[in-house]
Amino acid sequence: MNSGREAGASLEHPHAQLLGIPFVPREIADELAGFARFSGSCLLCTTWEAEVVVGHRVIHDDGDIVVLCPFWSGTPFELLVVPKDHDPHLHAANDALLAATGRAIRDALHRLRAVVGDVAYNLVFHSAPYRVHDDYHWHVHALPKLTTRAGFELGTGVLINIIPPEIAARDLRAAS
Ligand SMILES: [Zn+2]
Ligand SMILES: [Zn+2]
Repeated sequence: MNSGREAGASLEHPHAQLLGIPFVPREIADELAGFARFSGSCLLCTTWEAEVVVGHRVIHDDGDIVVLCPFWSGTPFELLVVPKDHDPHLHAANDALLAATGRAIRDALHRLRAVVGDVAYNLVFHSAPYRVHDDYHWHVHALPKLTTRAGFELGTGVLINIIPPEIAARDLRAAS
């Protein structure tokens, strides 16, 4: 989903794009490899469980959904929306969970606007490829466009984040 020109929005209003593609895109392939390397348990189940215990990167926890600033944030105020129940597939989620996801995203975006103003952002829903049945956990990325990729980022693929996720989460929690 795109909101704002800096986020690639070609329309005045926020809009979503849904399309089927006949291959697994690289972002998902890279994440699948990450889940596969994380032996013993689920990468995202382990992440949200650990983050809820320490709390300093968590913005929202309603029992069904956790919103946090991931410790691996590559851009300022990057957010990760994770359902607590392990499921690889977004399309298998029930209506109550989808509604909770929507409320969590709405709350997080309100907080984001309160802290940084009316920023452009992308929302990305990541779900496992249809035939993948384990080693993935669907989630949503919220990626505000507060900085642009400069020469170092473009030349190396290495991101420089000027706001630590702990600081971003603290500010977002404090916003109402
Ligand atoms: Zn999981
Ligand atoms: Zn993802």
